Amino acid sequence: MDYELTETQEEIKNLAYQVALRDLKPVREKHDADGTFPWDAVKKMAAADLPGVYLPEAYGGLGGGLLDQVLVVEQLSRVCGGIALSFAATGLGALPIMLLGTAEQRQKYIPDLAAGRKLAAFSITEPAAGSDATATKTTAKLDGEHYVLDGTKIFVSNGEVAETYVVFASTNPARGARGVSAFIVEKGTPGFGFGKKEHKMGIRANPTYELVFQNCRVPKKNLLYKEGYGLFTAQTTFDCSRPGVAAQALGIAQGAMDETIAYIRQRKQFGQPISSFQAIQHMMADNATQIEASRALLYATAKSIDKAMKPVYDKAIADNAIVYDVMQAMNVRRYTKESAMSKCYCSDVAMKVTTDCVQMCGGIGYMADFPVEKYMRDAKITQIYEGTNQIQRNEIAAMMIKEAASSAKADAVSA
Ligand SMILES: Cc1cc2nc3c(=O)[nH]c(=O)nc-3n(C[C@H](O)[C@H](O)[C@H](O)COP(=O)(O)OP(=O)(O)OC[C@H]3O[C@@H](n4cnc5c(N)ncnc54)[C@H](O)[C@@H]3O)c2cc1C
Repeated sequence: MDYELTETQEEIKNLAYQVALRDLKPVREKHDADGTFPWDAVKKMAAADLPGVYLPEAYGGLGGGLLDQVLVVEQLSRVCGGIALSFAATGLGALPIMLLGTAEQRQKYIPDLAAGRKLAAFSITEPAAGSDATATKTTAKLDGEHYVLDGTKIFVSNGEVAETYVVFASTNPARGARGVSAFIVEKGTPGFGFGKKEHKMGIRANPTYELVFQNCRVPKKNLLYKEGYGLFTAQTTFDCSRPGVAAQALGIAQGAMDETIAYIRQRKQFGQPISSFQAIQHMMADNATQIEASRALLYATAKSIDKAMKPVYDKAIADNAIVYDVMQAMNVRRYTKESAMSKCYCSDVAMKVTTDCVQMCGGIGYMADFPVEKYMRDAKITQIYEGTNQIQRNEIAAMMIKEAASSAKADAVSA
């Protein structure tokens, strides 16, 4: 399928796949087995300039957009969804700073992320606040020139290895959802420590950590946007980050099919390759069709967001303004529905495709020394994080109802 990628995007896509084959493939099994962090592979991704493909040139990036980021995540995940997550989770930590941060905050934090010198993380989940982030219990009390953070966050990807954390805490518990605010917290800040490291089903090369804040003094200037805008910051971020999860899912699905086709072409039963059996061919055909449909939806979403957001980023950087304020001034709409659709569809396809791939390979597909079962384990998380697929469906339906209400209102006015 011709997705009309630019020459640069084709190059980025090919480069990411070459890096994945050369630097991720030889170590993916080891890091999946022992759960250690693949620092060497991460440094090689940085040496290939991958971390900055989607970030503005003003901050040392290559000046691409969401589609460039999606292409990299897809190609890395095609080989290892776990190692790819160090790149994707840094994107999730960088985005709120890009979208809601001041020019000073962008200048201070983005260049290190663009160069791959540092990794980032995003921390909203708590023991009692998962799908319902309004239940945030971590507090941030203003004390002179600092906010004092107290509480525990859980399930943080890139935990402990990241240097820059975007953390959500309540500055006004009495206001509930409207009391939550977002902060940039640097690793090493006194009172900020790491608790439990999770033992997981998949994406095991990426550390998932508990963050513990005890009387942690964060400079006032590290507040993102305004007090009370934390959940708004999270949602605005998800509108642009969920295509990254979709890309991870798409890459995992494609990678599982790549491995499966290579196997079923040479495996013989009843005197013929198992790929010649119609039952297997129908699974292949359905999977390939669903993968291509995922790619079409995802790329169209990323292209739409890039088309809308590129002029916004350019103006915000030129004017030293906050990107979200420029979005408002330029009347640029949010892509909540399309991002949720991409994340939901691509991840459901990835779970189905990888499960079918294990089936097509038979017993060997279930074995840990054959790569396919890892794709199935890695796929599962894409249906859960950055909002479960139930939450994505809630959001898609809510947007549909809102759109229908406003078009009914417009029809009534013109009638
Ligand atoms: C490996 C891993 C990495 C993660 N990385 C990060 C990270 O980097 N940063 C971060 O902040 N968080 C992270 N998370 C947290 C993740 O985003 C949450 O686990 C997820 O949002 C679901 O929250 P929960 O686990 O509390 O599930 P719950 O909210 O308890 O949901 C349980 C079930 O109920 C369903 N449900 C809940 N509410 C509704 C509703 N209103 N309608 C329909 N169904 C509903 C859910 O869909 C789900 O099936 C990570 C999680 C994992 C497992």
